[in-house]
Amino acid sequence: MTDRAYLDHAATTPLRPEAREVLVALLDEEAGNPSGTHRAARTARRVVDEARDVVAAALGCRPGEVVFTSGGTESDNLAVAGVHAAQPGVVVCSAIEHHAVLDPVEALGGRVVGVDARGRVDLDALAASLDGSVVLVSVMLANNEIGVVQDLAAVAAVVQEHAPGAVVHTDAVQAFPWLDVAELAAPAHLVSISAHKFGGPQGVGALVVRTGTPLTPLQRGGGQERGRRSGTQNVAGIGAMAAAAAATLRDRDEVVHRVARLRDRLGDALTARLDGVTETAVPLDADGRPDRSGKVAGSCHVCIDGVENEALLFLLDQQGVAASAASSCASGAMDPSHVLAALGVPRERAQGSLRLTLGPTTTEAEVDHAVEVVVRAVERLRGHRR
Ligand code: PLP
Repeated sequence: MTDRAYLDHAATTPLRPEAREVLVALLDEEAGNPSGTHRAARTARRVVDEARDVVAAALGCRPGEVVFTSGGTESDNLAVAGVHAAQPGVVVCSAIEHHAVLDPVEALGGRVVGVDARGRVDLDALAASLDGSVVLVSVMLANNEIGVVQDLAAVAAVVQEHAPGAVVHTDAVQAFPWLDVAELAAPAHLVSISAHKFGGPQGVGALVVRTGTPLTPLQRGGGQERGRRSGTQNVAGIGAMAAAAAATLRDRDEVVHRVARLRDRLGDALTARLDGVTETAVPLDADGRPDRSGKVAGSCHVCIDGVENEALLFLLDQQGVAASAASSCASGAMDPSHVLAALGVPRERAQGSLRLTLGPTTTEAEVDHAVEVVVRAVERLRGHRR
């Protein structure tokens, strides 16, 4: 038994022991600046170079194509704004992108392409949005709210046909813990990842920039990262990210298998125990069973009728369950999710959205505790409304 359940791994997942060991060792070492010339600097440079090799292998690119950044947001911004600065024109993205892509695209006056009810990019609408003026198309590999995986090869084929000069970017931040990004993101010129989503520390990430991709740096200064991202590298963070990436690749098949079963247990229990629960982007198969195959293994997203997620999250937190509504709360009022709106989920239903995301450390006891707590909290909130 447990009285806690951390089910917000998509927000950030605990540091892997392998990453922690590297991080602590590097922070304790006499740290040099990797741009210097003396022994300590050479040591720091070797850490960064070795990490670059590991990350490149994990992402299926050459070491020189890896640009280390401060995380997913910077990688996404650099991709969108950096391509636009190098080659002004129209930028395009899907309607369910993370704000780290959506906001720069909108700031540049770009085009936003819709998705179907299961969250898959509408390829006809994508084709219709493309012409010779388009310089970049950004479609995420896996979504952070609902876990839906996109067919990037199909997206890239449409881009190749209708805007052959455009660069393809994919935000693989949520994909890396679960999917073979080296293979699935191969059609993209630019690929973003973030360490704290796969057991590395917060504040470090990478952007793959394949050779020949036009990209103007957003940060100028010392010319680090081959001039594509100036600023002294986060040496300890980069070393720890590489350790987390290696551990993720080593365990991925086993983790995906185990976590998918726990996620199914969670989704099955919530829909069986409560009325008015809809699993987002999960159709029923021919036998009436939920088909979660279009989503990453760690993602369970439900809309619960008759509750408001703000009140629900409060009750869950009181009972030791960390979850998310995947709505932003910047002004005190919950903004309805742009992702659920794009799927056509009615606003009323979206107000009861609950994102429960699992990770490598998730246990059956945590899942069972979360189910009991959610069921009790929903019954309580519904009782109040009667
Ligand atoms: N892209 C996606 C899909 C994400 O889920 C996140 C984090 O929530 C980001 C980008 C931003 O990453 P970071 O927190 O490293 O800036």
